[in-house]
Amino acid sequence: MVGLEPYRRSIAPVDCKALPPDMPPPHPPPNAAKETAMKILRSSARKTNRAPASNFTGTVFSDEVVVGVAPSRMRGSVVSFTPGARTAWHSHPVGQTLFCLSGAGRVQREGEQVQEIRPGDTVIIPPDVRHWHGAAPDKLFSHLAMSELNDKGEGTAWFEHVSDQDYNAKPAPVT
Ligand code: MN
Repeated sequence: MVGLEPYRRSIAPVDCKALPPDMPPPHPPPNAAKETAMKILRSSARKTNRAPASNFTGTVFSDEVVVGVAPSRMRGSVVSFTPGARTAWHSHPVGQTLFCLSGAGRVQREGEQVQEIRPGDTVIIPPDVRHWHGAAPDKLFSHLAMSELNDKGEGTAWFEHVSDQDYNAKPAPVT
């Protein structure tokens, strides 16, 4: 008959005082949430990611800028679109701000005319409004995209891809 002795021996309590002095403490100190050190996140340490084909048409790259730590819910990334590339239709629970960095872009709120957007332009997209954004058909385009999660932690809601017919509609004159 097999007794419990082998198991008892295998779960002997850990003697914390026996940890080598270079091990981190088992729990963060009480003031750990209050980060006071400035950080410089080096570009070389953060690789460019390919945006997923499920939510984008064409070749799109994304460089993360900020992922806020609570209580911040801020999210920011630089998104780079090759000519003709664009997001799928989508909406943001707390809205979105786009700051156009380079090239020539397009943005459309559902039911309205396509708009041309250019470097230096800022686009304010209200909460829960279906829209898409991307490059012009014949130009590269990049923007800084800024949005926040809502209080339930929900982010972007994604819908269908933007058809070529919708994408190629004549843009409104720039005023
Ligand atoms: Mn958007």
